[in-house]
Amino acid sequence: MSERFFPDGMPPPLANAITLPFWEAAAEHRLVVQRCTACGHMQLPPSPVCSECRSDVPEWHEVSGRGEVFTFTTVHRPIAASQELPFLIAVIALEGADGVRLISNLVEVEPDAVEIGMPVELVWEDMSADLAIPRFRPQRS
Ligand SMILES: [Zn+2]
Repeated sequence: MSERFFPDGMPPPLANAITLPFWEAAAEHRLVVQRCTACGHMQLPPSPVCSECRSDVPEWHEVSGRGEVFTFTTVHRPIAASQELPFLIAVIALEGADGVRLISNLVEVEPDAVEIGMPVELVWEDMSADLAIPRFRPQRS
């Protein structure tokens, strides 16, 4: 199991037929974005059709997990019991993903130390045997 940042009582993400491949890859600690096989456009969250060309033939493209903080907010109210406060919600601009942004959490950093544009890297949090959540921390390398 990975290091834990959030308590077990956190509401889990709801997978559906469109998002399931994302969560299956996450369970293997692979961060993927949907890429259109017709025009190459990348998008997240996934959709049945490409937002650029309307093709309905996507594939999944693995990204490095590096990126930068596009924006963030500090949350002072818990959403689960035993949750440490405050915690950080951030929009991460993913490197090598054609401008795709992912909403996630920042960990291993104090709120006052976070800046827009700060380089971050992926860290997986295994919530259970089949659910891993991508979180981000300041880049170490
Ligand atoms: Zn397309």
